[in-house]
Order: sequence, then structure tokens, then C-alpha cells
Amino acid sequence: GDQDGETDRALQELRSHLAGSVIEPQDPLFDEARAVWNGMIDVHPRAVIRAGTVADIDHVLDMARSTGLPLAVRGGGHNIAGHGTVEGGLVLDLGQLRGVEVEAGQRLVTVGPGATLADVDHATVPHGLAVPLGVISATGVAGLTLGGGVGWLTRSNGLSLDNLVSADVVTATGEHLQVSEKQNPELFWGLRGGGGNFGVVSSFTFRARPLPVAVLGGNFFYRPERWRDALHAFDRWTQDLPDEMNPIISILVLPPDFEMGEEPWMIIGFAWASENHQPGLELIGQLREAAPPDEEEVGPAAWLEWQSAMDSLFPKGARGYWKNVSFSRLDEEAVDVLVGFASEVTWFGTGIDIHHMQGAFGRVPEDATAFPNRSAKYWLNVYGFWKDPAEDERLSGFARKAYANMQPLAEHGQYVNFLGAEVGYDATEAARQAYGPKTYDRLVALKNRFDPQNLFRLNHNIVPTHS
Ligand code: FAD
Repeated sequence: GDQDGETDRALQELRSHLAGSVIEPQDPLFDEARAVWNGMIDVHPRAVIRAGTVADIDHVLDMARSTGLPLAVRGGGHNIAGHGTVEGGLVLDLGQLRGVEVEAGQRLVTVGPGATLADVDHATVPHGLAVPLGVISATGVAGLTLGGGVGWLTRSNGLSLDNLVSADVVTATGEHLQVSEKQNPELFWGLRGGGGNFGVVSSFTFRARPLPVAVLGGNFFYRPERWRDALHAFDRWTQDLPDEMNPIISILVLPPDFEMGEEPWMIIGFAWASENHQPGLELIGQLREAAPPDEEEVGPAAWLEWQSAMDSLFPKGARGYWKNVSFSRLDEEAVDVLVGFASEVTWFGTGIDIHHMQGAFGRVPEDATAFPNRSAKYWLNVYGFWKDPAEDERLSGFARKAYANMQPLAEHGQYVNFLGAEVGYDATEAARQAYGPKTYDRLVALKNRFDPQNLFRLNHNIVPTHS
């Protein structure tokens, strides 16, 4: 009809301005271009537009405004909830803008919006520097940072967004803004946790930290009979843990390439972020003594290898559904709850991570960024990854059950980057719950200022008051 003709003409016009490319359903590249990490998100956009320059972002926003087609913004494409694409709409794919520049003297790292964690780590390691990022190297820096960014340097250095110094933002009206503590500070506040609600970030500048090429890293592996003891020992061990120690507890069946059998393991993994390994070794020794592991590997690990060691767990195209809960207790009751549902994980394809927070993360004032809940000691992420659609209900059901069982321990706040798409999901309610009422109201005020028409709505949406 008329509308299709109009869209065709608008796409034609767009092509004539674009340095990048427009990929439509008839294009042989379309299936590859429409795919995101989560294989459960199987939708057909009207076009995927791969930006080749920052100016291309302006052209795509112009077209989205003039046609009224829904717009999805994609960095690394790892969003779990499916926000990186949209049925019948436009996908602005930033995946080709993945340059990374390191100013080693200043310890500043400037990153394009399509860069992956691997792109950044490969650029910084030769300078003895690291930006705090996540744990799987193919994840996009953009979405990770705008939502939070937890990984192996969270206690020592805070979230990825805590290390953001400035960003370049293209707003809903096409303005180009520099955003930092000094310039547009309220927008800088909201970008750090508020996700893609306020504009398209065309460049991120991070402060990096010095990091030896080989960090002290390790894993303690425990069989199910030892999980209770290990958790209680962990609880005592973390009472006054130095910031440099960054532990994550995982419970899962490991993939075949790990050669660890088909039984579930509890793994206490840790990265000691310091040049001096000795105090780290002593600390690890205390945990070993309190709860001897069934297996272990501890020693210097090349940072690049450490940062990609778990990649084979999360292949692109896996079906994914995730939930998360913040909590602070690891007492008898909490251990009962955790071990209770974790004991049911007997298959490869579902796992639990318990991120131990506090440290530098916990010292950031609650209202300094839009990330919710700085006081929780732990953040639990329940994740599923599987191949067979027939497993969707059972395996997403497990994540829901774990979430429900955790409610007696749960504190306020949801980490938006560890959230799957809900059936019958009410965006406003979900965002209010994720951020808490105070931060949510402040985000709404910012949304009213920067995106009153809700052009950027494919995200954990902050709904403007008069859209
Ligand atoms: P995309 O799907 O490309 O983007 C996600 C959303 O961010 C978009 O819908 C859009 O709203 C917004 N967005 C993206 N780019 C821009 C931009 N330039 N400007 C404005 N808005 C933008 N998180 C952690 O904290 N730590 C981890 O260790 C971790 N590991 C993960 C491992 C896997 C395998 C997966 C799938 C996810 C993991 N995550 C982790 C979660 C991750 O942070 C989110 O999935 C995040 O959304 C990924 O960002 P992306 O750029 O790849 O995603």
C-alpha cells in the first residue's frame, strides 16, 4: 500500500546518504543481519542499517522520525530481552563502528559503539591497562556499559559505567552532545544505568586501570556434597575481603571442552587485580583451608585468555532467558534456598552466577548513577542457554522458579542487562521495579527532556509522561 511505497522511498533516500549499508529481507545477508545473540528472538525487521560512520546515525534517526517506524539500536547484539531488533521496524546496527583508541599516558580509552569486550581488551593489554568489563568476550561494550557492566574487576574498580569518563550522544532530535560530569551532567547520570533511553551513544571514553599482563586467577571446583560447606566458608572469607579480590561463584554443568564430566559443579572463581600476587595467594590459601576444593586451578593467567575462558559456554544463537536478584545474606536460610534450586541443575544449559559486589562498586553513592542498589552484597544471575525450542518452557521456567524462591532474600533493584523478556510485560512497571521509584522518577524527568516522543523505546523503557 501507500505506506510500503513511502517506506521504500525513504529507504532509497537513506541509501543515497549512507556510508554504511541497508540490508532488506530480499538480501542474501538478511538472515545473518537480523540475528541477535538470543536465538529465541526470531523477528523480521523491515531493514537492518549498518552504520559506517557517526553521520549515518543522523540519517537513520531522520528516517525513523519521518516514517514513524519503530527503531531498535544495536551495539554488540547480546541483549537478552530482544531489544536489539524489532519486527517490521528499523535496526540501527552500530557493529561496524568498533574502533578503540588508547591514550596510555592519560589511561583513557575511547571506544566505538560497536566494539566488543575483546576489541577493548586487545587494545589495552599491550599498554598494561584494562577497562572493567564483563566476562564473555563477544558481548558489546555499548549495551553492557549503558546498563551496568559487572565482571572480574567489579570489586576492585566498580562497574563499567563507573569507569565511564564521557560519552558522545546523538539525541532524539539529532543534537550531538558531549556528556560527562561537567557537560550535561544529568544526562551523564541517566546514561549510566538508564540504558539506551536517551539517545544513541556514538563514542565512549573510559578510564582504564593498570593491570599486569598476567593476573593471579583461579577456580575452586566443588561437587554437590561440598556446596554448603563451600558457601559457608565463602561467607566467612568475604567478611573483610580486600578490594583487589574479585570472586564470582558459578553453579553449572560445564561444556564438553572443559572435560569436567556431566555432573554439576560449584566453581568459586577469582581474579586478584594486583601486580603483587603473594597476598592474593595467601588469601586464596585461607579459603582452600576452610573449604578444600575437589579440584582446583590457581596461577598467573594472561588477561586476554582469562577474559575469554568462558566463551564456549555462550555460543551465539543459543536460546536465552535470564533473571536476577540482589541480596546480602549467605546465612543458613540463604544457603538452603540457593542449594535447594541449584541442586536441580543437572543439565548443561542453565547456570547460576553469584557476583560478590561491595568494594569499589559499593562505595559509589546510590544517587551518583542510575544503577540500582549499591548496598547489596551479592547479585545473583540465573541464565539459560539451550538449543531446542521444545525446552523453552521448562528451562525458562527454571529461571522463574529460582527467582521466586529467592524472594525471601531479595532486595530492591533489578539489573536490566540480566533480564529476559517477560510475557505480558508492562514496560513501565518493569522499569519502576528495576530502578526503584526514586531513580525511576528522576529518569522520567530526564526522558521528558531528551526524548518526550519516546523514539528510543526498545529498551527497558522509561516512558515519558506525555508520549
Ligand atoms: P545490544 O543488544 O546490541 O544492545 C542492548 C541495548 O542497549 C539495545 O537494545 C539498546 O537499547 C542499547 N544500546 C546498544 N548500543 C547502544 C548505543 N550505542 N547507544 C544507545 N543505546 C544502545 N553483562 C554484564 O554486566 N557482565 C557480563 O559478564 C555479561 N555477560 C554476558 C554474556 C552473554 C553471553 C550475554 C548474552 C550477555 C552478557 N551480559 C553481561 C549482559 C549484557 O550486558 C547485555 O546483554 C547487554 O545488553 C549487551 O550489550 P550489547 O551492546 O551486546 O547488546
